[in-house]
Amino acid sequence: MLTRLYHHPVFREHLTTPGHPERPERIVAVEAALEAEAFQNLDRVLAPEGAVEAIYRCHSVDYVRRIARTIPEEGIARIDGDTVVSPRSFAAALHGVGAACAGVDDVMSGEARNVFVAARPPGHHAERETAMGFCLFNQAAVAARHAQAAHGLERVAIVDWDVHHGNGTQDIFWSDPSVLYVSTHQMPLFPGTGARDETGAGNIVNVPLRDDDGTDEFRAAFSEAVLPALENFRPDLVIISAGFDAHHRDPLGGLNLTEADFDWATGKLLDIAGRHGHHRLVSILEGGYDLQGLSQSVAAHVKRLMVG
Ligand code: ZN
Repeated sequence: MLTRLYHHPVFREHLTTPGHPERPERIVAVEAALEAEAFQNLDRVLAPEGAVEAIYRCHSVDYVRRIARTIPEEGIARIDGDTVVSPRSFAAALHGVGAACAGVDDVMSGEARNVFVAARPPGHHAERETAMGFCLFNQAAVAARHAQAAHGLERVAIVDWDVHHGNGTQDIFWSDPSVLYVSTHQMPLFPGTGARDETGAGNIVNVPLRDDDGTDEFRAAFSEAVLPALENFRPDLVIISAGFDAHHRDPLGGLNLTEADFDWATGKLLDIAGRHGHHRLVSILEGGYDLQGLSQSVAAHVKRLMVG
């Protein structure tokens, strides 16, 4: 069984304003990195368009309509100061959701051992009723709900190592103990949530890190909080909200992680998935705004997924 990569040209067609960090070049850099010799065995599949019904498990019908209505016929429209849309943004977000759900189907059927979804816009800041932080639909949350609704899984874990807290994922699963949300992130930083005492129904585990923390603090957070929470939860499926903006080169975050840290953390999560979830693991791109840091980190992450 192989590692599957979902990609699609539509992910480059979601346009943002000049100078915006969440830009099409991110996906170009990721795809270029995955063209290297080491990735020739990646199973490359075009991301399918998702079903809006899958999105309704995490966002209201009214919310999806509101997003559709903001899409301009030309140029760029603003949802808030950070979050903008262009004519192809809805299509890009729909394919992101489609790839995340297809990735779940693949690891359930055994067609792939694990999956990486190279999509944008990202999703983890999108709350049930609110788009923010560059995010429209919460792909990781929709994938978790899809795993439960379409495949009958009881326990799904979402691990989020993006430098920002995934307030959207926390919001969607706040009172749902069937989904464990575990996040390492820098605090204080956008969006301001993610304190240790935000625990939902006991299913939310926030492990804030401080500005300038690096390898030692991140690995300690993983070893002392993230991994024990996962062991205790025994997930049937592990989903990674894989943001790479905790990389030391990133302009938006103040953490000092390296590619080696993402490789290490990926290995630890593969261990958890192997022990509890028949190796099922779906990783979905979130942030990462320095093109070199992003492409090197994605390469290390996907290389580890392929080794298993
Ligand atoms: Zn981020």
